[in-house]
Amino acid sequence: MDSEMQEKCGVFGVFNHPKAADLTYYGLHALQHRGQESAGIVASNGESFRHHRGMGLVTQVFSREILDGLTGNMAIGHVRYSTSGASLLQNAQPLVFKYSEGDLAVAHNGNLVNANIERKVLQQQGAIFQTTTDTEIIAHLIARSSKKYFNQAGPEVLKRIDGSFALLIMTEKQMLVALDRHGLRPLSLGKIGDSIVAASETCALNAVDAKFWRDVEPGEWLLIDDKGIQTGRFAEKGEVSLCSFEFVYFARPDSVIHGRSVLAIRKELGQILAKEHPAPADVVVAVPESSVPAAMGYAQQSGIPYEMGIIKNPYAGRSFIEPTQELRDLAVRLKLSAVREILEDKRVVLIDDSIVRGTTSKRIVQLIRQAGAKEVHVRISSPMVKNPCFYGVDMPTKDELFANKHEHERKMGEVIGADSLAFLSTEGLLEAVDVDLADTSSRCIACFSGAYPTKLYLK
Ligand code: AMP
Ligand code: SF4
Repeated sequence: MDSEMQEKCGVFGVFNHPKAADLTYYGLHALQHRGQESAGIVASNGESFRHHRGMGLVTQVFSREILDGLTGNMAIGHVRYSTSGASLLQNAQPLVFKYSEGDLAVAHNGNLVNANIERKVLQQQGAIFQTTTDTEIIAHLIARSSKKYFNQAGPEVLKRIDGSFALLIMTEKQMLVALDRHGLRPLSLGKIGDSIVAASETCALNAVDAKFWRDVEPGEWLLIDDKGIQTGRFAEKGEVSLCSFEFVYFARPDSVIHGRSVLAIRKELGQILAKEHPAPADVVVAVPESSVPAAMGYAQQSGIPYEMGIIKNPYAGRSFIEPTQELRDLAVRLKLSAVREILEDKRVVLIDDSIVRGTTSKRIVQLIRQAGAKEVHVRISSPMVKNPCFYGVDMPTKDELFANKHEHERKMGEVIGADSLAFLSTEGLLEAVDVDLADTSSRCIACFSGAYPTKLYLK
């Protein structure tokens, strides 16, 4: 798979609101954790589009003046994160196209597993691609559909794409909202009076004071226009495979996915971890900030007090790539600092939500030891990540994954410099994300188990 196709993103859309672009700005701001590389908004006044996209955070990309220019009562927006190499403005979304029926804008969170195949077919037919994202394929398929009008072409095209997609597609007058047949990514709907809002996570509905209406169902599409809301399915109701990593790390803790609070699940992950892997410790410390709820859960269950042993500087931006190890280590200190008063002479249990490459844990264990800790026991509130994600969460290749580089937990613990290391079991993860253990297909756990819910089309 092309690394630049692996992107984790957030989408937000508003239909029928006089301040559609402003609301989209606020919604994207609440989804900023899903992507910090680029942001974009496309608004429609019913006749034509106004759009703006840029590299950076939502607040850096948009000014009051730019938002005032995005007139119209419907809008869709996108925040994007991609791995290195694809840091291009042309890949920033929503993508905007002109085709025979008018204007088209596409905002996509996820990854199409059959993108390479569809792209090749389209190129053989003469299609010229403007971007390297899989999302552009959707626009080409709509433009080339045998169905003339968007209200038929849009839903029809969804049958041809496979993988993960939480999708917002807009024409001058209509908005199509759709979720892949497996429900891999979250996508929720809300209402503000007569206005409809769609968002990757419910935290963005809250940000614009929209009332939660419902989640989009896997395999479902909604077409929203002046006549009302039409719904249909492009795939039969099947097994749901919502990404369990959304609960482990990715989603914001104040979001609710499929009726379950992300915060509550993260705490439960910590509680189960404490039952499975107790540690002889005086204090529980979290890798800030994503692991704080799991650390609280671990503390509750174990009776060991939770302390803020590591502080994150909220003004430290994204970690930047430094040329030497010495500078890289200093860069970590810009972001995180250990609190000596809490850690000195203590046996510490350090909670992290996941180990991917192993870089974070190693550096933090070092930081904690330098602050005088006597022992450091690392506990991870998810199982070992052993397989890459093909559904839009940024993960390295199989060989680069920490869990594949070392044979067993003891060796891994030594490598990160911990006195002990243990991971949550797959059963523990499934227990917390609340699924019937006999039916593991109702959550995707492929990066842990290797059982992918879709075909991968890897040749
Ligand atoms: P690593 O340092 O590569 O082992 O990454 C693990 C750390 O990064 C954990 O502290 C997680 O909170 C965080 N993390 C996990 N998955 C991802 C991801 N897909 N993108 C960015 N950070 C992640
Ligand atoms: Fe989520 Fe992992 Fe499945 Fe990817 S492979 S969708 S990260 S559970």
